[in-house]
Amino acid sequence: MSPSAEEVRSSSEFAELLEILGTVADLHAASAVLHWDQETQMPPGGATDRALALSTLARLGHETFVQPRVGELLARLEGRTADLPYDSFEASLVRVTRRHYQRAIKIPARLAAELAEAASLATDAWTRAKAANDFGAFAPHLERNVRLVREVADCIGYAQHRYDALLDEYEPGMTLDDIRPLFARLKDRLVPLVRAIARRAEAVDDAVLHQGYDEAGQWRLTVEVLRAIGYDFQRGRQDRSAHPFTTSFGPGDVRVTTRIDPNDFSSALYSSIHEGGHALYEQGIPEALRRTPLFDGASLGIHESQSRLWENVVGRSRAFWRFLLPKAQAIFPEQLGRADAETLYRAVNRSQPSEIRTEADEVTYNLHIFLRLELEDDLLEGRLSVADLPDAWNAKMEAYLGLRPRDDAHGVLQDIHWSHASIGYFPTYTLGNILSVQFYEQACRERPEIPDAIEHGDFAPLLSWLRERIHVHGAKLTPQELVQRVTGGPIRIEPYVAYLERKYGELYGL
Ligand code: ZN
Repeated sequence: MSPSAEEVRSSSEFAELLEILGTVADLHAASAVLHWDQETQMPPGGATDRALALSTLARLGHETFVQPRVGELLARLEGRTADLPYDSFEASLVRVTRRHYQRAIKIPARLAAELAEAASLATDAWTRAKAANDFGAFAPHLERNVRLVREVADCIGYAQHRYDALLDEYEPGMTLDDIRPLFARLKDRLVPLVRAIARRAEAVDDAVLHQGYDEAGQWRLTVEVLRAIGYDFQRGRQDRSAHPFTTSFGPGDVRVTTRIDPNDFSSALYSSIHEGGHALYEQGIPEALRRTPLFDGASLGIHESQSRLWENVVGRSRAFWRFLLPKAQAIFPEQLGRADAETLYRAVNRSQPSEIRTEADEVTYNLHIFLRLELEDDLLEGRLSVADLPDAWNAKMEAYLGLRPRDDAHGVLQDIHWSHASIGYFPTYTLGNILSVQFYEQACRERPEIPDAIEHGDFAPLLSWLRERIHVHGAKLTPQELVQRVTGGPIRIEPYVAYLERKYGELYGL
């Protein structure tokens, strides 16, 4: 007879595995604290010592995880957990740890070290190349990153495309053949929508957002909104950083950052809501999963579905502005005293093709992603050389968004990802966009009171649905398994496209 969950959990092998994974998780948490400090507090002089400390922690974490003992423990525990429920703690832990372990041991230590060093140098070179608008200075670093990342993909192995081996790290189980048809159909619907909006560009005015809003007031509003949506300040805090992010040191400490632009009222507000969405996910993962690989989101795409759901589907809705406007007016009576909710709703949904991805609106955003995915695939497969990348970038910008970047700093050099050697990451943003609507509509089908509650500032019905249906699983399920469980089917673009066409059709009178 196969052992029960209790028997597995009380076995010495399971305890030993948990101990090793706990050590790895502690090292990661320590790195995360150092990263957080680097982005929010550290003086410029700290960079060298911080890089050394982070690299030591990363090496210790990697060595602890890839030791052969982990492989032995997994092999023994796999037989014993085979008959346990798929989403039980024991079976999930063994399965997910195995997936991470197989990936980690396939990359030789020599390659991992070379990649880490190359990425660190490339990031430094990228920062300077972007400031100087000098793609040539970054090109040799990018060439090296592409070569190393190709090597990584070949070590890991793949069935169809090199891209699959890289994508799998961010979106377990997803392949290029899953994503390409989804994105192709989405592109067919979005390009005409973007063109139609551009012809009616004057229909939406966002002047109300650009009147000058003092920083202290903006900060108060972001804190009020974070509290309202359910972010727990007893288990987190908000700080300022140049690039907003969320970081988690464990269930009791999930932090967010935001940035404030005195001339753009929407920047801090929507950065905070976006990161708040990521943080609500992390704060909603059960404490019982702490110090294990299960204390995580299902994938980057699922994580992004949570941030985009709160930022866009909720935060850029009419209902939300009916709730928020009185609070914003109390802080900014001069700027907003005479404004109505409809004016704010329209302003925060202004759509316009732009050269910068991170400033793109809901409609144009995904076109920036399609372009990057196509170029990454071409680079990996050797169909495109780094030297030809800027021209290829500009040609696609013209084709999809109808504009050419003014220079490389606002074009091919704008994102940090490739300097980090993160190739295969970009599609997760669009997967998150697609799923944000699919999940929200499912939530409203199961709890029809949600839209009304939002209008009254009550976000609990939505948050509790997300907690019970998505957050509770942590990283136990793959993204496809999770989407199937939550919505009863696979990822689908139709709800998302319908949402965009409905919303922007009405906003722009199309
Ligand atoms: Zn995000």
